[in-house]
Amino acid sequence: MKDLDSKLKNFSKKLENSLEEDKINKSVLKSGANISKKMLDVLSSEQSSQFKPMTHDKFIKSLEEKKVLPEIIEKLSLVNVDYRGFDDDVHRGQVVIHKDLEASITRVFKRILAETNFPIASVFPISMFNWNSSSISNNSGAFDWRFVSDSDEISDHTFGAAIDINPVQNPQVREGYKNSPDFPYDPSKRGTLHKDSAVVKIFEEEGWKWGGRWDEKDWMHFYRPEIGEKYYGKTEMKE
Ligand SMILES: [Zn+2]
Repeated sequence: MKDLDSKLKNFSKKLENSLEEDKINKSVLKSGANISKKMLDVLSSEQSSQFKPMTHDKFIKSLEEKKVLPEIIEKLSLVNVDYRGFDDDVHRGQVVIHKDLEASITRVFKRILAETNFPIASVFPISMFNWNSSSISNNSGAFDWRFVSDSDEISDHTFGAAIDINPVQNPQVREGYKNSPDFPYDPSKRGTLHKDSAVVKIFEEEGWKWGGRWDEKDWMHFYRPEIGEKYYGKTEMKE
């Protein structure tokens, strides 16, 4: 257990150092002021058509520029997935995910498309949104290089072991709130996840856990805690 603790602490220090070094991270302003307007734009747009998949070279370059540790880069895959947009057309997107989860996330997206009518706004690497505005842009992103917001906990996104689906429809409910102050959660709206949702069923059947089962809801968040545990000694903190 001691060994695991020090392994995670060591990783945490390296993540902190790399975030300090990271020029992109420092130069990008925190978004927030225009949330409601942005939300309306997103919900009324045909977002999926606005993006083009990135090449493998560009993918690696984006990680190097962000100062992601080489030990993480070598474990990440860029996976093509097809999904239904809010325009009801099928679109090609890309997920950046831990190599061990490549087959699983591929099956999840195939099943969502084949078995449900669930629409997704867009599925692209968070690097395409300057790393910090993916959620506000309602993008369904997986790998991210960061700590959990306002904490020193390492997010499962940092290992490529979590994905957020339609963040605008499926907000994270912050401490002290019954609902998200920025995005109201309304399970009757298309693209929203709830406990009887076929998408939740598919993720859970494929071995993923869901933040909608936590006391403090993170409705968008699906994760695989065993990746952080296996490689970095992170034990699951929320359940
Ligand atoms: Zn998440």
